[in-house]
Amino acid sequence: MAKTVEKLTKIWESFIDEMEKKVDPHIFENWIGPLELYRFEEGKLEINVPNHFYKSWIEANFMDQITDVLTRLIPLDFTIVFRVIEKPVKPKTDTQVKNEIISIKKEGIKKKKTSSTFIPKSTLDNDYTFENFVVGPSNEFAKGMALYVTKNPGKSYNPLFIYGGVGLGKTHLMQGIGHEILKKQPDCKVLYLSAERFMNELIYSYGTDSIIKFRKKFRNIDLLLMDDIQFVTGKKGTQEEFFHTFNTLYERGQQIVLTSDRPPKKIPDLQERLVSRFASGIVVDIQAPNLETRIAILKKKAMHESISIPNDILNFIAKGFKSNVRELEGALTKVIAYTVINNKDLTLDNAKIILKDIIHQKDSSEITADLIQRTVATFFDIRVADFKAKKRTKSIALPRQIAMYLTRELTDASLPEIGELFGGRDHTTVIHAYKKIQGLIESNDPVRYQIQNILNELKGNE
Ligand code: ADP
Ligand code: MG
Repeated sequence: MAKTVEKLTKIWESFIDEMEKKVDPHIFENWIGPLELYRFEEGKLEINVPNHFYKSWIEANFMDQITDVLTRLIPLDFTIVFRVIEKPVKPKTDTQVKNEIISIKKEGIKKKKTSSTFIPKSTLDNDYTFENFVVGPSNEFAKGMALYVTKNPGKSYNPLFIYGGVGLGKTHLMQGIGHEILKKQPDCKVLYLSAERFMNELIYSYGTDSIIKFRKKFRNIDLLLMDDIQFVTGKKGTQEEFFHTFNTLYERGQQIVLTSDRPPKKIPDLQERLVSRFASGIVVDIQAPNLETRIAILKKKAMHESISIPNDILNFIAKGFKSNVRELEGALTKVIAYTVINNKDLTLDNAKIILKDIIHQKDSSEITADLIQRTVATFFDIRVADFKAKKRTKSIALPRQIAMYLTRELTDASLPEIGELFGGRDHTTVIHAYKKIQGLIESNDPVRYQIQNILNELKGNE
């Protein structure tokens, strides 16, 4: 028996050594170091872990690696089982208890002052409810998960991580969760705040030595809604603090909802362990709404303001603002303001005039043949004029064909029009270029890579 234990301990040491070589030092320290061998019995290798968070985390992220190493070290059929060993709280001694009784008799019980820091409803925007949130293909999965979370807070999908572009409804949906939970449990301590504010409060509390108060505040809530998490990046201390806040809440089974403008992996300078933690629940995205959804959003908003707007105008606005609901609403507000102030019926022509500036701006930011030519020329370090010239040298011909290909893909220009834009070439030349690049994208890695980069540039220019 003693021998088996000794052998097992040796195996465990080898396992730890191997894992240390395999994983990042901080992952090792945080995730592998705390593992403890418990026993090997009846084909089960039992490993102690400090809490439930660890357990699900390890199972989700390191199970393969752990199994891999252990099966090489132990030549038997066995399964790995994690046991959660919560550290027991040390019972108080009788003198401590007596002292406490004396102090309570003297001073009475101090009322917990949590409510003053958490005024649940007021931190949420009254309009950002589920009822006011229009669901369409671009957001229905995110909405479904949000709803699920309100019914099962802290259960399976923790954290819920919502990401998407600016003005697509992340904050609205996130606050909707807060409203919904408060409807059912008015006492629920909901804290909504931006990651930026979290950071500022943290920095302030460092400066004023009130870090304990800070921690208490953040760790005593039931539902944490933290917006725009991309702002936590880079700041090491904040990331550390957030990490611990997150763990404390998670371990107590409290729901956390996070938003960001991009998925966890794409947030620059975010510590790996935070990336993994953010992604450990469920990650959902919100896309730009399609035309139908945009119209529905406008209708809802108009109804909310008790104003009726003709359909052709709603259509016109919805077509003009494709990628940002806030701008879409802004346009509608402008139109509504006009009707209210001028007290007259709104016509499509008037709406066009009112919105001329904003919609026009939008048009000019769309991808045009001109923008494509300039971007491709810059990328290959040639001149736009070279596209139009008769030159056929390879250093010009390939960029020209790429530019033609992109113009065909990204603009509404017809084949003859594209030929015209490239120095009056025949439309068959355009077809040839198009097919050639299409083939190269499939077969030629460098070309595909170049085009990907040009596309990124173009999007940046949008
Ligand atoms: P984000 O946080 O993604 O930048 P917001 O949640 O602030 O975007 O949304 C911007 C505006 O658009 C808000 O006024 C919000 O109410 C509105 N909005 C966005 N998506 C929807 C939707 N699906 N239904 C209704 N309103 C929406
Ligand atoms: Mg937001």
